[in-house]
Amino acid sequence: MEKALKQLKEMDKEIVLLAHTGALLGWDQETYMPVKALQERSEQIALLQGMIHSKMTDPRCGELLNNLGATAATAMGNAGLAELDRAFIRELFRRYNRAVKIPQSLVVEMAKTTSIAQGVWINARKDSDFKLFQPHLEKIITLLKQVADCLGYKDSVYDPLLDEYEPWMTTKEVEQVFSSLKEPLVRLVQQIVASKQKPDETVLAAVFPEHKQLEFNLLVLKAMNFEFERGRLDVSAHPFTTTLGADDIRLTTRYNERFFPTALFGTIHECGHGLYELGFGQELKGTLLGNAASLGIHESQSRLWENMVGRSLAFWKGFFPQLKQFFPDTLKNVEYEQFYRAINAVKPSLVRVEADEVTYNLHIILRFELEKKLISGELKVQDLPQAWDQESKNLLGIEPDNHAQGCLQDIHWSMGAFGYFPTYTLGNLYAAQFFETLCKEQPELEQELEQGNLKPVRTWLLENIHSHGAVYPAGELCRRVTGEKLNPRFFIEYLQKKFGTLYDF
Ligand code: ZN
Repeated sequence: MEKALKQLKEMDKEIVLLAHTGALLGWDQETYMPVKALQERSEQIALLQGMIHSKMTDPRCGELLNNLGATAATAMGNAGLAELDRAFIRELFRRYNRAVKIPQSLVVEMAKTTSIAQGVWINARKDSDFKLFQPHLEKIITLLKQVADCLGYKDSVYDPLLDEYEPWMTTKEVEQVFSSLKEPLVRLVQQIVASKQKPDETVLAAVFPEHKQLEFNLLVLKAMNFEFERGRLDVSAHPFTTTLGADDIRLTTRYNERFFPTALFGTIHECGHGLYELGFGQELKGTLLGNAASLGIHESQSRLWENMVGRSLAFWKGFFPQLKQFFPDTLKNVEYEQFYRAINAVKPSLVRVEADEVTYNLHIILRFELEKKLISGELKVQDLPQAWDQESKNLLGIEPDNHAQGCLQDIHWSMGAFGYFPTYTLGNLYAAQFFETLCKEQPELEQELEQGNLKPVRTWLLENIHSHGAVYPAGELCRRVTGEKLNPRFFIEYLQKKFGTLYDF
């Protein structure tokens, strides 16, 4: 048994090294790579992905797992093994199983189809022409159904797709959670829209020079305890975080001199992701357990920092005097409460990535409901634009005038990433539930934030969440940390309290 485990760990280590190498190529492509390097870079990345896939599907891996008695039913608990080894086998079995079930020919066809579809999507969005994109989306959905069939499912064809991003969670569970979220959210948005109390957003309508924003971002990252000996911050068109090694986490952000929140909250968000990756326990480093429990949990870490900490009144009481030193003229006559109100303005809008904390999740519910119907065949691709506009009206009270601002706005579907969207909202829900526990266990937290001290947040997350990596599935982690399973109540109460005060109802 010892020997089989050792061999599996050696094989896994090589996959981790290759994956980090691939991440370096991807990071460089998005940040510093000269444009003409794209052709060979794509080939380099494809070669590495092929190598990783063949290692993941190595028949020896299957034999060794078999020797260890790992099957779908027992992968969760090989009684004779230590806890970490059991978790390792569970995750390895899951990965191996998913990889071998999908034939190589389908993997290649999916990669080709989505690569073409992404190019078409860019043009379709530019010209707001859904018809151009339609046949590509139809092909993607056909292939995804084949993928789902290969992976197998009991209740919903959407289950195995969701499982890619949110392991062990079912469509039914997401439906239950989202359905108890929807009504209160819609009501809350209506209350906010009807409120006479409106934030003064003119305080943000000024020019904030990029180099000054960068300096302030670095100050906040240091306060969050981002370790610059183990990571960096750069600029890219779309902000992201990537792991090039257990001690090498790269964050990116983007600057808008005319809209200050973009860079700062983007940076805090990515740093939340980065701190998670930096916080995996020493014994998990370089193994597949040195990973997030799920995308939802990953997003909970970025959202907790961005919204619950970064957009809180206490945070700005602590940091606004420092911000004023960076922009003394612009913010001369602004008080921190005024600034806090402006950065928390709520307005139903058409574009997800620009949405505020409250309406954001309605954008996600809309996508989840539509993509589920597309995959089950209940909704035809040709009817998508109409269905989108209708749902937008139902949920947000507004309708897009064109496809670019409607069903063509996100890249996800062109990449074949069905099942990804719900993880954004799951992240918000987990964040609120974790934050509630954090506040209970650290009653002094608000005063600490008001002093500009973010250490208690970092320490608590590290101990309770980060250090565990993928040792516990998301649901179990949530129960261990908060004492109960994922419950949307925490998020709804958080929003009602915060925005009820801001909008006076
Ligand atoms: Zn994120």
